[in-house]
Amino acid sequence: MTAENSGIERIESRTAQIGGGISVDRVLPVRQRRRIGAWCFLDHAGPARFEPGEGMLVEAHPHIGLQTFTWLIEGEALHRDSLGNEQVLRPGQVNLMTAGIGISHTEESLPDQRVLHAAQLWIALPPGKQEIPPAFDHYPDLPRWSEAGVDFTLLAGSHAGHTAPTRVHTPLVGMDLQSPTDASLRLALEPGFEHGLLVLEGSAQVDGQRFATNELAYLPKGHAELALSAEAGSRLLLIGGEPPTDDITIWWNFVGSKAAIAQAQRDWEAGSARFGSVRGYENRRLVAPPVPW
Ligand code: MN
Repeated sequence: MTAENSGIERIESRTAQIGGGISVDRVLPVRQRRRIGAWCFLDHAGPARFEPGEGMLVEAHPHIGLQTFTWLIEGEALHRDSLGNEQVLRPGQVNLMTAGIGISHTEESLPDQRVLHAAQLWIALPPGKQEIPPAFDHYPDLPRWSEAGVDFTLLAGSHAGHTAPTRVHTPLVGMDLQSPTDASLRLALEPGFEHGLLVLEGSAQVDGQRFATNELAYLPKGHAELALSAEAGSRLLLIGGEPPTDDITIWWNFVGSKAAIAQAQRDWEAGSARFGSVRGYENRRLVAPPVPW
């Protein structure tokens, strides 16, 4: 395929604010694309440098119908949730929280950390799995290998004979590619998946088109490979999955039917036991806005 007919779409991130006054680059959802496979949210945070007393703090908030997936590149982040988990996330590790029927959590940078670089994604649970019990998993060791001068870390799914341990509920892939030197390779893709390749640092060429930091190359289903060139010092994030056919709504921190989301909004605002509480954050909770329908 040539660049003209390959169907590659350029998606530019927008700036959003998260707790603690931290700016992030929000890649999903954007106007022209809500999801890539089951991946329905993608924030690229940092690399940010903090002065003493500054940092990220996202106070207690609920989720339903999704998994939160945090990939830590630099710095450290602390996760706490209503199941009682407290987990420090370090570079090269993934935290995966399955909200299912309902959970609440907090996220913060540690007081002695002066830097944060991370990607946070959400994975929509498929119909029939949206009300599973909540769970939390920490993955300190993920499959890693090098090819053509590029260091690969498999974050979810399978690639090139490797399989990640990450507990997901739909066919999908997530992969980090780091290129210490200028590198070119042909990257095999699952042709039944749509894919997005986000430049986290540096720049890359995808089938001959250049993408800068915080730009995402979207490839529709049907690509069995792509020609990739990454400049020295680049870091890329590949996500993919089967194009969704369901009709779920994504609103605030919730995924599901409009009725399920409206119920979750009421339950959170009423302080329902459904979402439990995060120890130390009983009175430091984000307020759910009114549902717009
Ligand atoms: Mn969250």
